[in-house]
Amino acid sequence: MVVGDIATGTDLLVIGAGPGGYVAAIRAAQKGIDTTLVEKDAYGGTCLNYGCIPSKALITGANLAHEAGHAEEMGIHADPVVDMSQLRDWKNGVVDQLTGGVEKLCKANGVNLIEGTARFKDENAVRIAHGGEGQGSETIEFEHCIIATGSRVIQIPGFDFGDEPVWSSRDALEADTVPERLVVVGGGYIGMELSTTFAKLGADVTVVEMLDDILPGYESDVARVVRKRAEDLGIDMHFGEGASGWREEDDGIMVTTETEDGEENEYRADKVLVAVGRSPVTDTMDIESAGLEADERGFLSVDDRRRTDVEHIYAVGDVVEDTPMLAHVASKEGIVAAEHVAGEPVAFDSQAVPAAVFTDPEIGTVGMTEADAEEAGFTPVVGQMPFRASGRALTTNHADGFVRVVADEESGFVLGAQIVGPEASELIAELAFAIEMGATLEDVASTIHTHPTLAEAVMEAAENALGQAIHTLNR
Ligand SMILES: Cc1cc2nc3c(=O)[nH]c(=O)nc-3n(C[C@H](O)[C@H](O)[C@H](O)COP(=O)(O)OP(=O)(O)OC[C@H]3O[C@@H](n4cnc5c(N)ncnc54)[C@H](O)[C@@H]3O)c2cc1C
Repeated sequence: MVVGDIATGTDLLVIGAGPGGYVAAIRAAQKGIDTTLVEKDAYGGTCLNYGCIPSKALITGANLAHEAGHAEEMGIHADPVVDMSQLRDWKNGVVDQLTGGVEKLCKANGVNLIEGTARFKDENAVRIAHGGEGQGSETIEFEHCIIATGSRVIQIPGFDFGDEPVWSSRDALEADTVPERLVVVGGGYIGMELSTTFAKLGADVTVVEMLDDILPGYESDVARVVRKRAEDLGIDMHFGEGASGWREEDDGIMVTTETEDGEENEYRADKVLVAVGRSPVTDTMDIESAGLEADERGFLSVDDRRRTDVEHIYAVGDVVEDTPMLAHVASKEGIVAAEHVAGEPVAFDSQAVPAAVFTDPEIGTVGMTEADAEEAGFTPVVGQMPFRASGRALTTNHADGFVRVVADEESGFVLGAQIVGPEASELIAELAFAIEMGATLEDVASTIHTHPTLAEAVMEAAENALGQAIHTLNR
C-alpha cells in the first residue's frame, strides 16, 4: 500500500459516470446494493459533456437561425446574427444543469461518489488515484464491478488534436466563432451532424470520406435524402478520399487527401474537423491485473447479462464489442448489469435498439431492414409513406423523406423500421415500442393517431404494408 492509501470495501464498484455507469449505479443503489461510482473527469461522461447533449444544443441553435433566415416563402424576412460565444454559453448552461442533476441523483439514491482514476490491482480491487498533486490514492475492494469507461476519439496520422486548426468533435462543440471554411474528415453520423450544423451557421463546409457514401451502415435510399439536403445547404462532398495531412498557408490551412489510386487533392480551410470514429477506453486501467483481455481494437466481450469472462466483472456501453456506441444502449446495458448483480433474471435484448442521426432531415432506425429480414429467413412485407403526403409535414415545411415499416408477411409482426424525415428521432420510438410489444402491422395501423401529426405517417406506412393506405398509393 502506498503512503496515504486507505482501503475500503463496496459491494459494487462502477468505473465511469457516463450514461452506462451512472445509470447502472443508480439502479443498483435502488436495489439496495452498496454502490460506489468512480469518475475521473465529469459526471455524465461523453454523452452529457462532449457528445449527445452539447451537439444537440448546437444543432437546435443552428436550425433556429437557419430556419428564421430561410422562411421568405412564408413571408418571413429575417437575417439572424448568431453570437457563437453566447450560443456556446447557453449550451454549456444546459450541460451544467444536466451534469449537476446526475450528481444530485446519484447522491439522493445513496451512491457513494469518488473522484479519481481507477486501475485494477487484481480481480477484486482497484486503486483510485485522485486528481492533482498530493491528493493521494485509495484502494477499493469490491464484490462486483461494472466497467463503463466509454470511448475516446480516434486520431489519424497527420492530424494532431493538439494543433490549433485540427478539431475533434469536442473542440468543434466548444467553438466560439464559426470558421469561414471547414473541412470535415469523415461522413459518419458525427461528421454529418456537425457538417450540417456548421453549414447552417454560415461556414463553407467540405466533407471528405474514404467510402463511397455518407452514413455507412444506413440504407442508401435513407442516406440519399440526407446527402441531397446537405448538397442543398452547400456542403461539398468528396468520396473515395482519405485525408493524408495539412499544412499552414498564408490564408488558413490546406488539407490534403489521397484516393486509393494515389491521386492527391487539396482543400483550403480554416479548421479541419476529424470525425472518423471512437475507440474504447480499456487500455489505461490495467485490466490484465483483473484477468481481463480486450480484443485487438480494445473492446471487451460480454454475455447477454453483460458479464465479462471474469464473471463478477461486467462491462457496459462503448467498451462493449458488437453493440452500437450509443448512450441509450449504454444505459440499458447498465440497467441489465445492475439488476443482474441484484440477482434478477435479466438479459440484454438487441432486437429493438433504435438509433437516431440528428442531420437534416433526421434519421431514426430500429430493428431489421428488408435485407436483414430476408437474411434472417423471414418473408418480409414492406410499407412506406412519403412525408410529402403528410399534411403535418407540409405545414412544418419539412416534407423530405419517408417512413418505412418492415414486417413478417406471414405473422404480420413488425420487424423493423427506417425513418428519414422531420422528427425521425422521436417517431422511431413508436416502432421500437411496437417491436418490443410484439405488435403486428394491424396493431399499428388500427391505432388511432392524432391528426395532423407526423406520427400519422407511421400508421400510414403500416397501412401501406397491408395494402390499405388512404393517403398514398398501395404497392
Ligand atoms: C459528438 C458526439 C455526439 C454524440 N451523439 C449521440 C447521440 O445523439 N445519441 C447517442 O445515443 N449517442 C451519441 N453519442 C455517443 C455517446 O456519447 C456514447 O455512446 C455514450 O456516452 C457512451 O456512454 P458510456 O457510459 O459507455 O461512456 P462515456 O459517456 O464515454 O463515459 C465514460 C466515463 O468514464 C470515465 N472514465 C474513463 N476511464 C476511467 C477510469 N479509469 N477511472 C474513472 N473514470 C474513468 C470517463 O471520464 C467518462 O466520464 C455521441 C458522441 C459524440 C462524441
